[in-house]
Amino acid sequence: GMPGVADVRVAMMADKVARRIIAVASGKGGVGKSTVSANLAVALARQGRKVGLVDADIYGPSQARLLGAEGMKPKARDSKLEPVATAWGVPVLSMGQLSDPGQSIAWRGPMAAGALTQMLEGHWDDCDVLVVDLPPGTGDIQLTMLQKFKPAGAVIVSTPQDLALIDATRAMELFDKSQVPVIGVVENMAGYACPHCGEVSDPFGSGGAEAVAGQRGVPFLGRIPLDMAIRLESDAGTPPAAGDAPQGQAFRALAQRVGE
Ligand code: ADP
Repeated sequence: GMPGVADVRVAMMADKVARRIIAVASGKGGVGKSTVSANLAVALARQGRKVGLVDADIYGPSQARLLGAEGMKPKARDSKLEPVATAWGVPVLSMGQLSDPGQSIAWRGPMAAGALTQMLEGHWDDCDVLVVDLPPGTGDIQLTMLQKFKPAGAVIVSTPQDLALIDATRAMELFDKSQVPVIGVVENMAGYACPHCGEVSDPFGSGGAEAVAGQRGVPFLGRIPLDMAIRLESDAGTPPAAGDAPQGQAFRALAQRVGE
């Protein structure tokens, strides 16, 4: 006979869980969440995963630049967005591609939630994993994400600084409340890699994120040094994780842990 409402709902849910969503979150902006998202996605793709990237950071969408796909606009097919292909095998949809470059992005709550929904409901049929770069904090976008597209897990990015860690703890609490497992915490800018000799020093200390992960009983996924090569390659649209140089190593190790 006709499928009942319950059957339809189960089918829809099955469709959503078939694709693993990994949310990348931070308490604060500027801690390297977008950099980690892009490189995690690229490194997972290098492991042979079919990975897509959704840039939901309404305040500073940067994935098109980080993946060298700036200025490319997604097209719609059957009224769903078609992700934009990149040179790294990671198709992307970004809030930045849905508005004009340079235009100040003043998304209102419902508009931003609508844009997020459109991106997550795009043509991702070829992808097994979707990495979602969330805005910093615990606002509307996070709530929409948690209510409509429950992630399989969340990666939390923080710097070693106390304030960033306090905010990261808040972000972790939101995932806990929503029963989304925290895959672990990444400590970014965790020491300075000398551009001449490559030696890493810790002018601001390090280990804070590891301690917080320990307190909360979630895995610590590793440290990424503050490295000028990471910033330069990111700005150039060539993600460090795509190459074999040392600056990509921390991201490749991260993807290995997340992929397990
Ligand atoms: P967020 O997404 O948290 O706002 P971004 O990923 O945009 O942060 O990073 C902010 C700035 O810091 C960017 O210019 C980026 O290239 C740089 N950056 C991030 N992580 C590192 C790192 N480990 N080493 C050097 N520069 C970094």
